[in-house]
Amino acid sequence: QHYTAEDITKMVKDENVEFLCLMFTDINGIIKNVEVPVSQLDKVLANKITFDGSSIDGFTRIEESDMLLHPDLSTWLIFPWGEEHGRVARLICDIYKTDGTPFEGDPRVNLKRVIKKMNDMGYTHFNIGSEPEFFLFNTDENGNPTLKLNDDGSYFDFSPVDLGVNVRKDIVLVLEKMGFEVEASHHEVAPGQQEIDFKYQDALSAADSIETFKLVVKTIAKENGLYATFMPKPVQGINGSGMHINMSLFNGDDNIFDDENDRLSHTAKQFLSGILKHARALTAVNNPTVNSYKRLVPGFEAPTYIAWSSKNRSPLIRVPAAKGKSKRIEMRSVDPTTNPYLAIACILDAGLDGIASDYDLMPEVKDNIYEMSEDKRREEGIVDLPSTLHNSLKALRKDEYVQQSLGKGLTNSFFAAKNAEWARYQQTVSQWERDTYMSQY
Ligand code: GLN
Ligand code: MG
Ligand code: MG
Ligand code: MG
Repeated sequence: QHYTAEDITKMVKDENVEFLCLMFTDINGIIKNVEVPVSQLDKVLANKITFDGSSIDGFTRIEESDMLLHPDLSTWLIFPWGEEHGRVARLICDIYKTDGTPFEGDPRVNLKRVIKKMNDMGYTHFNIGSEPEFFLFNTDENGNPTLKLNDDGSYFDFSPVDLGVNVRKDIVLVLEKMGFEVEASHHEVAPGQQEIDFKYQDALSAADSIETFKLVVKTIAKENGLYATFMPKPVQGINGSGMHINMSLFNGDDNIFDDENDRLSHTAKQFLSGILKHARALTAVNNPTVNSYKRLVPGFEAPTYIAWSSKNRSPLIRVPAAKGKSKRIEMRSVDPTTNPYLAIACILDAGLDGIASDYDLMPEVKDNIYEMSEDKRREEGIVDLPSTLHNSLKALRKDEYVQQSLGKGLTNSFFAAKNAEWARYQQTVSQWERDTYMSQY
């Protein structure tokens, strides 16, 4: 929805809003916010609110740390909770430098840059439907998460077994109040695991929505005495949480991926070839934590190989049978720890490279890759996804195209943050190692 400054001023008055929460994300996709009382509204609308960016991950600019918040008025939303302390409305912001130009290190600014590139190539929308999954854990008497999952339910289970159902309903109701169009919500395969799907949106709104969604889920779970986590693999031995990304390229009302006579249009195949070409480097962005790789193992419905299929769900990319406006490709590796602005920018740009470079598309796999022999996989040219954060960072280091999708500043801060994370992990001695080696050697 498009709002003018006058609209916002009127809504602040009419709705008795007392605080404005100015939101943006750091490189890790963590929501940051500057909260100002509505007395500052004029300054907010004039893009004059500043903050010190030097202590925000990925924002460090030694020479100048003051940054400006440019609110995107179309993201206006009143939080339907916490009213007892004063009504809060949020606006998602782009970060600008004090010289008045957009800050390239802001993931949202970077996504807009890639969208502009897409527009220049003749496409109006990159539509994204995401399928975030999460776990609900019980909390202890201090409200801290325990390791006890909140139910023993399973795929599409219904109450009374599915204790998550009431919380899920609460979450869905709040999301709808906030303008989300929720299409489906269901218990996932693992105990305590849930999924909520909302209607596809253009790339920028989709990234905004994913961030807001995580905030809503955590807030409402907490109100219900539960703890929600988007950590990809919180419990070993059961499925992890992914965030499938369904995507299609539109020109006005036309879905460019659709073709009456084929499973995918020629452009869709080119787009797909670009994603497959850059898949290893994209993994660093789409699966950016040490824990992400504990999910990307065989046997838990998460992909481990770079391939595509319209027949089965084992490969990285699935082409669902839907037709017309719903024709899309689904990337199944992405998990909810990704910064959605970075993930969507890099996936889109990889696809655009496929269109521009017209790479050969590998034939689709018809069999379950998990059951293929290594020889057969080699014959079909099927390569593994990186198996650790370390390996995916190496792949990103080798792929200058995907680095360019992030831009120089974000690439540098991404490597700085992630190399440090890997080093900390590498130096940690785990209980598994003590259990396995201490008595053996
Ligand atoms: N949880 C699975 C994953 O890790 C996906 C399961 C599904 O949606 N079918 O990706
Ligand atoms: Mg799903
Ligand atoms: Mg699912
Ligand atoms: Mg899916």
